[in-house]
Amino acid sequence: MEKIITHDQIKQAAKEAFEEASKVTGGKNADYIPYLANIDPNLFGLTVTLTDGTTYSFGDTEYKFGIESVSKVPTAILAMIQHTPEGVLKQIGADATGLPFNSVFAILLENDHPSTPLVNAGAITACSMVAPQGDPQEKWKAITGNITDLCGSAPQLIDELYESETATNFNNRAISWLLKNYNRIYDEVDMSLDLYTRQCSLGITASQLAAMGATIANDGTNPLTGKQVFAPEIAPKITTLIATVGFYQHTGDWLYTSGIPAKTGVGGGVMGVMPGLFGIAAFAPPLDDAGNSVKAQAAIKLFMQKLGLGIFNNEKVTIISD
Ligand code: GLU
Repeated sequence: MEKIITHDQIKQAAKEAFEEASKVTGGKNADYIPYLANIDPNLFGLTVTLTDGTTYSFGDTEYKFGIESVSKVPTAILAMIQHTPEGVLKQIGADATGLPFNSVFAILLENDHPSTPLVNAGAITACSMVAPQGDPQEKWKAITGNITDLCGSAPQLIDELYESETATNFNNRAISWLLKNYNRIYDEVDMSLDLYTRQCSLGITASQLAAMGATIANDGTNPLTGKQVFAPEIAPKITTLIATVGFYQHTGDWLYTSGIPAKTGVGGGVMGVMPGLFGIAAFAPPLDDAGNSVKAQAAIKLFMQKLGLGIFNNEKVTIISD
């Protein structure tokens, strides 16, 4: 089946999805990181960026919030750029754990083979893989430079969030040393964990995340800057990881009901990717029990429903300007 969607229809669907999701209540801010507990729970924004760069934004889309686990996506991409997708498969893996993002149990269960770069354990391992080995300053530059290229503008470290996370990341410290025990961390342990904690503490906006999603949807070329950030063959690999574990233990329910691969973070951000079509991002701090933003999920689902889109729908979709 062929389906043609106009820019105007996309704009209208995003506007209606934003307005309807604004009324959705429930959830609560992440409280295990003190900084996140204190963010205004009423903030809410939605941005869609098409692969031609056209962007529609509603609400608080320029508010800088903690990127948190959405940062696992760009660093997985960076590891693929530096070590190839096969290298990431070999050194980390691509299997969903079906368990919470910070599960220690998952590491014990999978000690003989790696997991995925989109849960805490695999993300800390991905930070350990970033080149150049043994040089935290240069590794940090590579991580933030890659995010800047993917978004078309720079993220900004939220110092208070970084301090807040560092002071409370006991579970992640346990994960890091357990990884060391299984020879699944490839650089200095505390440094790898610190890079992970710092990347989670980067401030990002919904509009920046939508641009990142659009860059993935556009096979690695940022539609806002025209820069090729990664090779086209990486796009389906990262989208596969997002589709299989982007919502942790709720990933199946999410993909089944929304039709779009998306990655969440406990800062309240959700970034979705529709290959060839668009990136979408929503942000609202209150989370469900798995750590996924309630309003952001509602907004993205409503947007997809209004346009009748789904990644597994048997149709060829073309977006045209009006
Ligand atoms: N910094 C958070 C942690 O590792 C990220 C978790 C998330 O966003 O899912 O605990």
